[in-house]
Amino acid sequence: MKLVLASSNAGKLVELRDLLGDTGIELVAQTDLGVEDIEETGSTFVENALLKARHACAVTGLPALADDSGICVDALGGAPGLYSARYARHGDNEANIDKLLAALKDVPDERRGAHFYAVIVLLRHAGDPRPIIAEGVWNGRVLHQRQGSRGFGYQPVFFDTEHGISAGEIDDALKNRVSHRARALAALRARLPELRG
Ligand code: IMP
Repeated sequence: MKLVLASSNAGKLVELRDLLGDTGIELVAQTDLGVEDIEETGSTFVENALLKARHACAVTGLPALADDSGICVDALGGAPGLYSARYARHGDNEANIDKLLAALKDVPDERRGAHFYAVIVLLRHAGDPRPIIAEGVWNGRVLHQRQGSRGFGYQPVFFDTEHGISAGEIDDALKNRVSHRARALAALRARLPELRG
């Protein structure tokens, strides 16, 4: 079965192809099928993922997979949330981290709780009334300064409280077991039989 990935991120394609390798699903990048990125105008992660997947279905006529993710900070009412990639400046990790640290300047450890969140949706066709929706959460808190430089985005200032390690120092193997995206992918995999239903 062919499935289109509603994302222009080459890293995500590799990661997901790996995950779906033994399922008989062939994942095709939307850019290879002439699908352009659309504006993410939803007010929740799941709405944005659905918008992207529906658009890819409509253009290609294939089932589509889309994801959305970000970091939500308790003391900031869930911000930056949907706007994680563009909190200070789009795609500028350092500026985004600086803005987050400034927003939490005088906030003590016990109120620096945060989580990474990821949602993955699978639409069988553009009008599918019951998309498969899989979520994942990675809990922790925001550090007072950067610790490590592994990974991307906000990882250098995210402390995984369960494993007692900064996400900026975590190795790929552990991240691939505990991260929000890993958990969402595992949940999606478990529900793949519904794809045919
Ligand atoms: P998107 O899902 O590719 O739109 O990513 C949203 C933004 O959330 C990224 O640009 C990062 O700033 C942040 N983010 C999402 N997942 C991670 C992660 O695994 N590590 C660090 N930052 C992340």
